[in-house]
Amino acid sequence: MSASVTTGIVIKTTGSCHTVKVDSGEVLQCGIKGLFRTKGIRTTNPVAVGDRVDVAIAEQGRGIIVNIYPRKNYIIRKAINLARESHILAANIDQAFLMITLKSPVTLSMFVDRFLVTAEAYRVPTILIFNKTDLYGPMELGMQYDWISAYTLAGYPCHTLSLINGKGLEEIRAYLPGKITLLSGNSGVGKSSLVNVLDPFKNLKTSEISISNKSGKHTTTFPEMLELSSGGQVIDTPGIRGFGMLEIEKSELYHYFPEIFKYSKNCQFYNCSHTHEPGCSVREAVENGEIAEMRFLNYLGMMEGVNNKYR
Ligand code: GDP
Ligand code: ZN
Repeated sequence: MSASVTTGIVIKTTGSCHTVKVDSGEVLQCGIKGLFRTKGIRTTNPVAVGDRVDVAIAEQGRGIIVNIYPRKNYIIRKAINLARESHILAANIDQAFLMITLKSPVTLSMFVDRFLVTAEAYRVPTILIFNKTDLYGPMELGMQYDWISAYTLAGYPCHTLSLINGKGLEEIRAYLPGKITLLSGNSGVGKSSLVNVLDPFKNLKTSEISISNKSGKHTTTFPEMLELSSGGQVIDTPGIRGFGMLEIEKSELYHYFPEIFKYSKNCQFYNCSHTHEPGCSVREAVENGEIAEMRFLNYLGMMEGVNNKYR
């Protein structure tokens, strides 16, 4: 008996069952053969959504994962009750959409900056999307102006969107083809609404999954990759607000604020923390408006965080 081996991408994984879409387009339910380890961390799951794998086709619709290709990046969450182990949520992410709303609900800038710090650490380029602009009055529009100025100075692409009237949608769509995009943001900001608008086939897919589930319900705890009819894939991480834990040394925090890092090169002291030292180019840039005060204050807030570590 000789099984043919083919390459594909993991689009869903629940425990020991992994759904792989192979390059021919076929979708296979797969188990795993052998031990796969992730360098540097202890993980509870060997394979994650977004992994590129080789599959030996065993029989109709079934296969065995025999190889996992090295990951470009991955995001993790600490496993429940297992302090030393991590769970890989998704791998090979090309970019993240961080959805923000300045009304109903209000997103906190600290939430945004914590997310961005982690995204920098994971090397995931992030695009900020200000949604629900149809609800914004003068106050929210003023805030939006300030936030977009701040994050543009930091180097992040910013876009405004209303899923109610469709304004801004084409700019968002343009990011998606050929990429794996992680969709993030607080609950209620419009992530599911965006997926529904992007891909009219998504509802169909969800009901297919519901049928195949024994419980008859679409489980929402596992990240899932949704293929867009226009090309590209979106990873929806239900119930996961950010990227999950990551420990960053205080002394290195400024590396993950791109604009602070840029100005830090001119600080008088090589180990400047940008909090109080004389000759600090970062604080000078804040005073000159080249770094947004909002971002700098959040940097200071994180520096004051507990235990010498920020999570
Ligand atoms: P999720 O929790 O991030 O997936 O958010 P949902 O997609 O479930 O959206 C939460 C609520 O906000 C729903 O009632 C949506 O209809 C509504 N919503 C989404 N986008 C917009 C928008 O652009 N404008 C307004 N006014 N409501 C929106
Ligand atoms: Zn400094």
